[in-house]
Amino acid sequence: MKCFLCNRALTNPANAQRGYGDDCAAKYQRYLAATGTDESELVRLANNERSARWVRNYKTELSKGNTRRAQECLNAARRASEPIGEWVTTGSLVCVAPDTGERVPQILAPVFS
Ligand SMILES: [Zn+2]
Repeated sequence: MKCFLCNRALTNPANAQRGYGDDCAAKYQRYLAATGTDESELVRLANNERSARWVRNYKTELSKGNTRRAQECLNAARRASEPIGEWVTTGSLVCVAPDTGERVPQILAPVFS
């Protein structure tokens, strides 16, 4: 296991678990602050199969020190994690597609997590 920011080997099990070393912890916190997120949001996005790859891309861009591209990946992760519709009450439950406004009866609508 290597630190995702500096690529040095991680020997401390706790550091290997989180993916970065003590030397990079402060830098990582600055990156998180600079891109307007925190570890709990990244964990949530990483655990969503629709946004997980964007979190990986986010960390790859951070490892290059490119916070602007990392920010774009974070924004993409947030968009990808959003449900593709929403439940609304119009007498009965329907799903409204955000792009077309199409209303789908509940029986036909996907289940959102
Ligand atoms: Zn490191």
